[in-house]
Amino acid sequence: MDDHFDLCVIGGGPAGEKGAAQAAYFGKKVCLVERSPKPGGAAINTGTIPSKTLRETALYFSGLRQHGLYGVDYHVKSDITIGDFMFRERAVVESAWQQIEQNLERHRITRVQGQARFVTPHAIEVTRYHEAPRRITADVFLLATGSRPAHPDEIPFDGRVVVDSDDVLSLTEIPGRLIVIGGGVVGCEYASIFAALGVRVTLVNAKSRLLTQLDTDLSDALRQELTRRLGVQVVLDATVTTVRIEGDLGVVTLADGREIVGDCVLYSAGREGNAQDLGLEDAGVRTDKRGFVQVDPQFRTANRRIFAAGDLVGYPALASTAMEQARVAMCHAFDLKYKTAVSSVLPYSVWSIPEVATVGLGEDEARNAGISVEVGKAWFRDNPRGQIIGDTEGFVKLVFRTDDQRLVGASVVGEGACELVHIPAAVIQFKGTLDYFIQCVFNYPTLSDAFKYAAYDGLQRLQKRVSKSMEERSRIATPGSAAGGVPPTPRAPGTT
Ligand SMILES: Cc1cc2nc3c(=O)[nH]c(=O)nc-3n(C[C@H](O)[C@H](O)[C@H](O)COP(=O)(O)OP(=O)(O)OC[C@H]3O[C@@H](n4cnc5c(N)ncnc54)[C@H](O)[C@@H]3O)c2cc1C
Repeated sequence: MDDHFDLCVIGGGPAGEKGAAQAAYFGKKVCLVERSPKPGGAAINTGTIPSKTLRETALYFSGLRQHGLYGVDYHVKSDITIGDFMFRERAVVESAWQQIEQNLERHRITRVQGQARFVTPHAIEVTRYHEAPRRITADVFLLATGSRPAHPDEIPFDGRVVVDSDDVLSLTEIPGRLIVIGGGVVGCEYASIFAALGVRVTLVNAKSRLLTQLDTDLSDALRQELTRRLGVQVVLDATVTTVRIEGDLGVVTLADGREIVGDCVLYSAGREGNAQDLGLEDAGVRTDKRGFVQVDPQFRTANRRIFAAGDLVGYPALASTAMEQARVAMCHAFDLKYKTAVSSVLPYSVWSIPEVATVGLGEDEARNAGISVEVGKAWFRDNPRGQIIGDTEGFVKLVFRTDDQRLVGASVVGEGACELVHIPAAVIQFKGTLDYFIQCVFNYPTLSDAFKYAAYDGLQRLQKRVSKSMEERSRIATPGSAAGGVPPTPRAPGTT
């Protein structure tokens, strides 16, 4: 006889765990199938948590957070081994596993280990080693099988000299020279982490700047800090023609003939959906050519009883959104009047050194969309907390509409950026204006207080813009006269 459940979730990463818990919380009988012996998916095992823990480790050992504040070159350890580097990562990952196990147990979710594959549109078979396949049927399925690093045929991955973002966690020693191919989030994060440890890093990007989804001033700030503070050699507009392994070395050749030699090459340019071997064609689920499953706004696939969420459905491919997408999918699947849409206000964080975070529209994006916007900026070097901690290059930036001063976007570069970004995110979510920052009392001295000064700066820029356009209008209305006839312009509040 088949095992039958209200919901069968395939994949035990953030989307699978949270989708399963959401349905179970509302009384559904749920099973979760995961092929790996440990839950957590890429977020816990190969991506988010390991990379963020390694970043903290690198900052600690290198003393980079001290910014040379005390007049000494502060290194906790100069000859760091891979064991030192990985120690804390293992501890954090193990405690994350325990938390997930407890969450699944608390919600009485049945765990099944093995590789799932659809055999009919309403049934899967789970196989594990040489055991007989287990057949599971369910009223609803949630596909949450995530994604994996793209492996183009021409890149000779060997897990040692040429690695992807999964293999990098299994390196047996810290390379002397690292070449990172790809100036996206993962590339920038690992370039910073290894550079902080003292590795000579070359970051190669095909585009003319890093992280092209960000405003130009943000990606420029990141590039400058990577270069100036961490010594990363950033090579832009560079097409990689070949990657080859010569003995223990990796050799990357660029289209202009340049060759870059390293002890390790990290290829981090793109990911693909884990849709292969799932039997989706038998289930009537459509995918695109990169293996991403197509869903509607309710996260329903072409088969109305099968939902999909997380990396498997593509952009933005973040653990943060994966969890929300799965919760929303389950609310639609079981008609729960609880959470029917993922917020359109999605914070986007890059845990490079320095951190970069953004939410809502970027300045370039808003202008390209034809929205009349102005910006306000404030630097951490002018902020007492920024001075105390020695962050002289960080800044906050607000993007707001010129007509009603409504906040449409914000970005932060520097210490705490990935936390700070939630302040403007809340303002955007609740359709607030610059006035929130003007009226609000911020703790002193804090980096958050920089938002108030960014708002003042924004109002001053707006005032200048209004004055300029009034002057121009008056000049046109009174030919030959630049003076006179200019009405008073709105005043920005004091900025002290
Ligand atoms: C280096 C790196 C850094 C990152 N940093 C961040 C960050 O800072 N913040 C952030 O929000 N996101 C980050 N991400 C992205 C984040 O890890 C993913 O968005 C998130 O893990 C996606 O969750 P998911 O549940 O959709 O898929 P996954 O986490 O990939 O989980 C999918 C699970 O499905 C299982 N599975 C696959 N196929 C089958 C099958 N046929 N049968 C059974 N089980 C199967 C897999 O074993 C896996 O456990 C990072 C990613 C990487 C690679």
